[in-house]
Amino acid sequence: MHKRYKGIAWWGWAAAAALYVGASTAAIEFAWDRAIGALADVGAHRLDLYASSLTSELGRFEMVPALVARQDSVRALLKASPDEAPGLTRAVNRYLEAVNLDVGSGAVDVIDAHGSVIAASNWNQQVSFVGTNVSYRPYFQDALAQGRGRFFGIGTNTGVPGLYFANAVHEGGTADDKADDKAIGAVAVKVSVDALETAWRTPGEAAIVVDSNGVIVISTVPEWKFNAMRAMTAQQQSAIQASRQYAGRTVEALHFRRVGEWNDAAWLGTFPDPRRAGRTTRYLVMSRPAPQGHDTIMVLLDTTGARRQQRLAFAFVTGVFLIAVLYALYALQRRRTIAEKLNAQEALRRANDQLETTVAQRTAALTDANDRMQREIAERERTEQRLRATQQEVVHAGKLAVIGQMAAGLTHEINQPLVAIRTLCDNARTFFERNQPAQALANLERVGRLVDSMAVLTGELKAFARKPEVERVAVSLGEAVAHARFIYESRIRDEAVRLDVRIPPGTTVYAESSQLQQVIVNLLGNALDAVRDAGTRAVTIEADAPDAHDRVRFTIADSGPGIAPEVLAHLFEPFVTTKPRGQGLGLGLAITSRIVEGFGARIAAVNGDEGGARFTIEFMAAAPQRTEHGR
Ligand code: ADP
Repeated sequence: MHKRYKGIAWWGWAAAAALYVGASTAAIEFAWDRAIGALADVGAHRLDLYASSLTSELGRFEMVPALVARQDSVRALLKASPDEAPGLTRAVNRYLEAVNLDVGSGAVDVIDAHGSVIAASNWNQQVSFVGTNVSYRPYFQDALAQGRGRFFGIGTNTGVPGLYFANAVHEGGTADDKADDKAIGAVAVKVSVDALETAWRTPGEAAIVVDSNGVIVISTVPEWKFNAMRAMTAQQQSAIQASRQYAGRTVEALHFRRVGEWNDAAWLGTFPDPRRAGRTTRYLVMSRPAPQGHDTIMVLLDTTGARRQQRLAFAFVTGVFLIAVLYALYALQRRRTIAEKLNAQEALRRANDQLETTVAQRTAALTDANDRMQREIAERERTEQRLRATQQEVVHAGKLAVIGQMAAGLTHEINQPLVAIRTLCDNARTFFERNQPAQALANLERVGRLVDSMAVLTGELKAFARKPEVERVAVSLGEAVAHARFIYESRIRDEAVRLDVRIPPGTTVYAESSQLQQVIVNLLGNALDAVRDAGTRAVTIEADAPDAHDRVRFTIADSGPGIAPEVLAHLFEPFVTTKPRGQGLGLGLAITSRIVEGFGARIAAVNGDEGGARFTIEFMAAAPQRTEHGR
């Protein structure tokens, strides 16, 4: 089976995406909660710290005006007549200067019942409180009315912000003992909060103290100082103006925005960034009442760190998720690669199997074809054998037929000479009886020649039956031709055949004398047969002089009808004849060609351009030799 890996389905991706969104949201929230929780812990700690530092730092100044108010010299000064005053004033000024130096406060001054500063620790300094009127200041009013006063404000002379503590100076020395002991003035101490602000300053945090007016009086962010934490009504504004508490400034509301609650003690808000206009910072804001008065301490903790933690958490989750996704993709790719490899192997195996099957099939087919071929070959061989047998039978049958034909032919061939011999013998006897021996002898010679030609006839059969081993010698071509001419002398004469013999004298060839005669007798006999019924009866016998290869070309041509086309191809085969029964056996040329081959010569036959047959024999020329030949 071809396995396909389609990868992750759409719902797989959707689930992964949902998981990612869920995990990252949870991580972001978790990081936020943790970071803000940690900030809240820090904030609570800070509030404790600042409260205790307010108690310790400011508390120690609280008692100073009360102690100074009990000084006899101070009371004396407040009650002194104009005569006594200058001396007392000098003494009190010195005293106040010493106290201020010892306690480490900003300034200590004595104020008469009308609000005029009559002595001050900074009496001899350029900016001296002496002579100024502070009757409008709430701390003074409170001190006269309730015995003590306290408030944050900006110095009208110095323009320096600070915390004012004031105590009433009573005629009798105490405010508690007698109800009628009337306040004749007040002592006020001004404390700078610069040190506190510096001590509280922490990076990423802001600390403020808000007074009962809702105005920021201590702030580690200088720009926020004397801004209000709540909206100011027109009435509040005019009251503030009247007290000149903030040196106549208009108190602006701080433009922060509350964006969320963390818990009962903490909330989230965005505050303007004083150093970067238009930008805001988000703080976790926590507050608690200050240990003294109606003030409130607030700490603002920058949440940028929490944001960073959130981003880190998000980045972490994203990173983990990406790694997981990458790993999943890698694993998937790996699986796919392995699957592809397996598929490829499988395909290869299948191809191999198929190949083997194909090879087996082809081999089987080939084997079949081979078997079939073998069978066909065997069949052909059998057929051939049968054919050959049939052929032999046919040949045999043909031979039998030929023998009959031949017998008839032989009878005819032999009968004629026998009749002639009979006649010649009878005539010879008559010549002897008439005493004409010469004629009788001539007859006997003719009888001899006829017997010779009969011998030739029977020789033909013998020659055909076996191939005689002959010794090749130089034989005169001219003599052989003369012999043949002699054999057919009467026929040539009777049939008026024009015979031309053109043999160069002394032409000798390698042959055997009687066989050469037989060859020429055969060829001449055929030529005479051919011209018998022709209009022109002419036979030409020629021989050329030996050529460069020592070959003698011998030709015998006639004016007959030429060799029949159906005969030409089989001319030299036995029993091929066109002559009627009794006239030819079809052996003449077969025997002739065998004899010629025995001479090492070649015979060929063509029909001449002007009709008639032309037989050519190429003999091997031989040096002349004395040869014996009959008659
Ligand atoms: P036969 O003379 O007994 O027929 P041969 O072998 O001598 O046998 O000749 C075979 C045949 O060749 C003849 O029957 C004849 O048809 C043909 N033939 C031979 N010589 C000639 C020739 N000079 N002209 C035409 N036909 C010839």
